[in-house]
Amino acid sequence: MNQSVKSPADFVVPVVRFAPSPTGRIHIGNARTALLNYFFACRHSGTFLLRFDDTDSERSTEEYALGIEVDLAWLGIAPDRKMRQSERFTLYDAAAAKLKALGRLYPCFESPEELERKRRLQIARGAPPVYDRAALRLSQSELAALAAEGRKPHWRFKLTPEVVQWEDLIRGASHIDCASLSDPVLVREDGSYLYTLPSVADDIDAGVTHIIRGEDHVTNTGVQIQLFEALGAPQAPQFAHHNLLTGADGQGLSKRAGALSIAGLREAGIESLAVAAMATLTGSSIAVQPAYSLPQLAGLFDLGSISRTSARFDEEELRHLSQRVLHGLSYDHVRERLQALEIVGRKAEPLWLAARGNLEKFSDIAVWRLVVEGEIAPQALEPDFAAAARAALPPEPWDESSWGLWTQSLKQATGLKGKALFHPLRLALTGHESGPELAKLLPLIGRARVLARLSGKS
Ligand code: GLU
Repeated sequence: MNQSVKSPADFVVPVVRFAPSPTGRIHIGNARTALLNYFFACRHSGTFLLRFDDTDSERSTEEYALGIEVDLAWLGIAPDRKMRQSERFTLYDAAAAKLKALGRLYPCFESPEELERKRRLQIARGAPPVYDRAALRLSQSELAALAAEGRKPHWRFKLTPEVVQWEDLIRGASHIDCASLSDPVLVREDGSYLYTLPSVADDIDAGVTHIIRGEDHVTNTGVQIQLFEALGAPQAPQFAHHNLLTGADGQGLSKRAGALSIAGLREAGIESLAVAAMATLTGSSIAVQPAYSLPQLAGLFDLGSISRTSARFDEEELRHLSQRVLHGLSYDHVRERLQALEIVGRKAEPLWLAARGNLEKFSDIAVWRLVVEGEIAPQALEPDFAAAARAALPPEPWDESSWGLWTQSLKQATGLKGKALFHPLRLALTGHESGPELAKLLPLIGRARVLARLSGKS
């Protein structure tokens, strides 16, 4: 099947899917796949499906599935539809029956040991280790004899020996020579399905138009395109295989998935928008930069911006990006998160605007909230200085100019300036060596609290 690139006008409503197996939590590399699909759906007003590939009942758990949903929601992804493969076996059974009827799914009885022996012999002879289709040559009586022995077959998909070509939306003209592949096993001896058949059957059933996934799946694409054809799909979806994220050392992420799991990053206080920007812009032609919403990020690039070289990313850069994102988040953006920390009322917005530029993590805002409306560890001032500071304090109402007025007159009264003047005041008023501009904090702390703190109270 030779696919050509279609212009956006050729598809009315794209349907894409993110299809994790709920056998663990997702990491930043999986987020890359999810987000690229989501952005594609957003840009083309399409549908984003979340499909749990949970046919492996031993390894898939409900807990992981829920965890993945939580992680996607945190990233800002709201699926339009959800599907679970474990609820769809009727569809797969029908697809398998159809392939059997077409002679494209055939029973095989070789044990793993026999297959391994054949493979070694082929290699020794210098032949490619491709399944020899011996099972296709079994006579009816041989098949009957095997069945009588109680042997259960596994089932292989009979590939057409041809070069399958497709125009990959990221990698360009691509092909897989199916003549050099073993006929893939689609159904195991115990009747359970491997990933390929359910995936293609679901993609057809759900009308998936674009399969956007990691380039570790390129080698599956030839088989899958033949399977789409065999199952009677009007046409196979378009494919886009993106490069995989690696750590700064060039190693794949799976080994270190714990630290880089979405849940782990969230718990470490990394901003979700930084994760999204890093997950998608790394290994693209667009510079990694802060983004303040997913639509903004989606608008920055399309699949063609993904580069074909590796996508190395650096955890340190992620932490740094997270701070840059945090420092630029508007009050409206964080209002609900502030509410969850009980930062509400008239001081909430000015506090956020005063303190955001000093935060390493969002939760640090709680520290500055205590400074403006809670208690801090008392820091005693030298008594004469404290008395002068109290005496110079202007009357309320205060605004951002009050700090300048106060310290100017205190400077005149004490002869102190620079750090000698400001540092003790900062310590007494905030309990911290450094922090947001005092001109902004002072009106929020308020005169009564300032007077108390100048007297060494909390
Ligand atoms: N469950 C498969 C995976 O996580 C889906 C692959 C695909 O997108 O086709 O690798």
